Amino acid sequence: MEPDSITPLLAPVTSLRGVGAETAKRLERLAGPRVLDLLFHLPDGIIDRRPARSLSDVQPGAVATVEVTVLRHEGSGRVWRAVVGDGVGFAEVAFFQPWRLKEMPVGARLLVSGRCDLFGDRLTMRHPDYIVPADQPERIPELEPVWPMTEGLRSDLLRRTMHQALLLLPDLPEWHDPALLRREQWPAFADAVRAVQAPVANNGQLAELARKRLAYDELLAHQLAMAWMRNRERHRPGRALAGDGRLRATALAKFGFEPTPSQHRALAEIDADLAAPRRMLRLLQGDVGSGKTLVALLAMLRAVEAGAQAALMAPTEVLAKQHHRTLSRLSPCPVGLLTGSITGAERRNTLLALANGRMPIVVGTHALFQDKVVFRDLGLAVIDEQHRFGVAQRMLLGGKGERTDLLVMTATPIPRTLLLTQFGEMEVSRLLEKPAGRQPIRTTLHSLGMLGDVIDGIVRALDRGEQAYWVCPMVAESALIDLAAAEARFAALRDRLGDRIGLAHGQQDPGVRDAALAAFSAGETRLLVATTVIEVGVDVPAASVMVIEHAERFGLAQLHQLRGRVGRGSAQSYCLLLHEDGLTESMRRRLTLLRDTEDGFVIADEDFRLRGGGDLLGKRQSGQAAFRLADPVEHDGLLQTANRDAAVLLNRDPKLESPRGFAVRTLLRMFNRRAALETLAAG
Ligand code: ADP
Ligand code: MG
Repeated sequence: MEPDSITPLLAPVTSLRGVGAETAKRLERLAGPRVLDLLFHLPDGIIDRRPARSLSDVQPGAVATVEVTVLRHEGSGRVWRAVVGDGVGFAEVAFFQPWRLKEMPVGARLLVSGRCDLFGDRLTMRHPDYIVPADQPERIPELEPVWPMTEGLRSDLLRRTMHQALLLLPDLPEWHDPALLRREQWPAFADAVRAVQAPVANNGQLAELARKRLAYDELLAHQLAMAWMRNRERHRPGRALAGDGRLRATALAKFGFEPTPSQHRALAEIDADLAAPRRMLRLLQGDVGSGKTLVALLAMLRAVEAGAQAALMAPTEVLAKQHHRTLSRLSPCPVGLLTGSITGAERRNTLLALANGRMPIVVGTHALFQDKVVFRDLGLAVIDEQHRFGVAQRMLLGGKGERTDLLVMTATPIPRTLLLTQFGEMEVSRLLEKPAGRQPIRTTLHSLGMLGDVIDGIVRALDRGEQAYWVCPMVAESALIDLAAAEARFAALRDRLGDRIGLAHGQQDPGVRDAALAAFSAGETRLLVATTVIEVGVDVPAASVMVIEHAERFGLAQLHQLRGRVGRGSAQSYCLLLHEDGLTESMRRRLTLLRDTEDGFVIADEDFRLRGGGDLLGKRQSGQAAFRLADPVEHDGLLQTANRDAAVLLNRDPKLESPRGFAVRTLLRMFNRRAALETLAAG
């Protein structure tokens, strides 16, 4: 059985003395509804209130605690003072309300604690936080935690409430592996909470170990829940899709190249998933240009060989059309297209062919997954560029076919940390190398002061027959202002280049934009000025030069994405990063990293770190912080450990029935991993 001793921790904060409805509302906003949430509200600072030896030791500008005798009172119309001394020196305690002097009668020996400042040559403590008789030092905490606060909540009330909550902490059976605990020298859970929320002097190391332990508690709870979901997905009934390789062989023959070793490996993993009688939920991670489309096509053809249908969903109309072109060229069987702009008879015919199964493969936008679209037998769904879609869509899509296998492709390499925290329910395949014959892209940095020279260079490249992108700066969060920059650059370059130049941006009518992309794609225009609409997926293998203006304003991952638009053919490609003169150190570091590596996984990890991944995982993204005690970036090592720990634990004790298993149930309850517990109850 689970110990009932944690019940008081799961109770609402109103169960604590002195917490009424109003206070509860504020505490809830600050920390959460339960007593435990309050205990998980960790301090972000500590005030040292250990008494100074004498007034002469006090540092102005800091909090100090001193033992003094009150010598006399002084009062003017606005400030009332108690002059105090300790035999070594003198100081003043100042109040703005005269009656507070009563707390400091002349002749009394007191301990006062508060912030001291120097006014003239007088050390002054205004409105002390504590005034207690000198023989009751225990009434001032030696180390006082400072918690992040919320409006309307008084810090002394929070302190008292926290104190009460701490008294409810039971000693719980240990859920961690004893060997790990010994190695890390972590305290038990209750001791750890106390060490952090009520720190004592001279034990800084314990507080640090305690924080790590609590971080690990949270990470392990999270990874266990993820492992569960993965197990559940894995055991969800699917169907065995096996093929004879006939369609595949035809497609590969048309393609004319051998798959890369990574593509081979990914396909083997996908084939094993497809052939198994359970549902596939796989993430295919591959840097731009690593050849995900071919993998998608071959996977879909396997589903068709097995007699089922397959669908590929792209995030934009442009991409859907592009995929449709590529797949139609290679696929031995018909490939349909379904997007928002396809209407009338064409749409009706496609819908009919999907419903009766005559159309084995379809490419589209999210229009594919509207209610009206019915498949005869959807065996495999592929989502491209997953980061554009939310998790909800990921699930919705899988719901189209009862037991549809799901392959999600992302061109943005997902940092390891995110993979473990946000995508933990998926299996992962990675495309590590680019197809053979690719040359590395030559990336160079140029100050915008050299713009003239850069333009001359581009003109020469175009004269040699090359094609180039010119990406305009991100000026503001506003698409309209960005647009102004793109149009100004377009006008200026057109003066030099005449009709060899096109313009594509997100504010254009989709028809106009598609026409601009198509003209560039066909080689009719040689330079395409664009905003970041070209970031995702646009595929013009002949383009070999990428200019990015004000590169310092883009994120690393985004620059990497943009650069990936070139280097797709066999010609030497170039990426010119134009930056303003006064680069900050961190901007220079980012651009240099980009210049020196093309490894998307390295760039993604670094980008995640630089942007403070903790924020990404926290409130900003989800509205509800995913982690409170852990910072998955800072605690990256612990995260990896938790990932392995969770797998081992569930392997040995899948129903959590061992003594450690029962203790782990408590952990899951504390961290609200209800879904995991429900699955457990159901299984
Ligand atoms: P991405 O992973 O960015 O979607 P694509 O699938 O668009 O990459 O592939 C990029 C380019 O590489 C395409 O022009 C594609 O035809 C080519 N390609 C893919 N696989 C191979 C291969 N095994 N050998 C040669 N070229 C390949
Ligand atoms: Mg792609």
